Amino acid sequence: MNKKALIIGITGQDGSYLADFLLDKGYQVVGTSRDASLASFSNLIHLGVRDRVQVESVSLNDFRSVIQVFKKHRPDEVYNLAGQSSVGLSFEQPVETFESISIAVLNLLEAIRFMDLPIRLYNAGSSECFGNTDGRAATDKTPFHPRSPYAVAKAAAFWQVANYREAYGMFACSGLLFNHESPLRPKRFVTKKIVRAACQIAADGSGVLKLGNLSVQRDWGWAPEYVKAMWAMLQQEEPEDYVIATGQTNSLQDFVEAVFSNLGLNWRDHVEYNPDLKRPADIDISIANPVKAEKKLKWKALYCMRDVTRMMVEAEQAGKKKQ
Ligand code: NDP
Repeated sequence: MNKKALIIGITGQDGSYLADFLLDKGYQVVGTSRDASLASFSNLIHLGVRDRVQVESVSLNDFRSVIQVFKKHRPDEVYNLAGQSSVGLSFEQPVETFESISIAVLNLLEAIRFMDLPIRLYNAGSSECFGNTDGRAATDKTPFHPRSPYAVAKAAAFWQVANYREAYGMFACSGLLFNHESPLRPKRFVTKKIVRAACQIAADGSGVLKLGNLSVQRDWGWAPEYVKAMWAMLQQEEPEDYVIATGQTNSLQDFVEAVFSNLGLNWRDHVEYNPDLKRPADIDISIANPVKAEKKLKWKALYCMRDVTRMMVEAEQAGKKKQ
């Protein structure tokens, strides 16, 4: 019998790539959206796998809804990739962010415990939990210092997962994933915003790209690779948490420069600083040590920031040609 995976938040960037990856591995894939009858599933359609996954409406904040989907599908593996995922938006919607990330995970853990199911659970943690680490590369043992409502919610969810693992012997892990990008990134995210604007400028010279603090440094990887690490965590003998990243940090200015130079443009001619885009608190330098994943999961990022910008620009231009 093929294994069955339940992907909570299948409509998003990671959910769609993970569905594609698991289908290739022979899994039966069931995915959830808060309202599956309204969702467009455009990412699954883009990847050509919409017809191969079964979809259900599930709200993680509704205990009955979680229990129903478990009862109906009895999944072997559950991947929780749902929740409000924008750091910027979390300053405007802190309660929604906390409920959709932290309370949601608690409901999920309680449902597994209540039904006593032999489920392996992956929960989407985040590098945002670390905050500033004074230039030290973060591992899964680095203390947290969250600097946004999003990061606070992710930190609470991380400890809930760890607590259920220790208290009830559950197979539950968190992946502390650093930023990972792709053409499926929603346009409110800065990487997609930069790629989209630069391609528009290259096409017809129109528009100016307005950005906030360009000196922040991040570790940017390629999303289709990162979902493989999620799966690998659930194949281990013991459940553990892992940092997943490329191990290379670059400034946002480097990212912008790389995108524009892919198009033969000088970014300085097209970018304006907008102080309104500055966040109330931000991480200056995000830096990772992914060696544990390399050793135990045999996972290593193949693509770094410059590859990511090139592939996102190519996809954006190919999309424009089709329009
Ligand atoms: P996306 O935003 O692309 O997808 C998240 C999904 O969650 C959406 O498709 C949506 O599904 C659902 N969702 C959105 N808002 C809410 C809400 N308020 N309440 C409940 N559900 C909501 O995220 P990614 O695929 O990029 O990321 C997957 C997970 O990994 C997220 O938890 C994210 O925070 C985390 N993460 C992502 C990183 C990255 O760089 N991409 C880095 C580290 C962590 P629907 O509308 O269909 O219900």
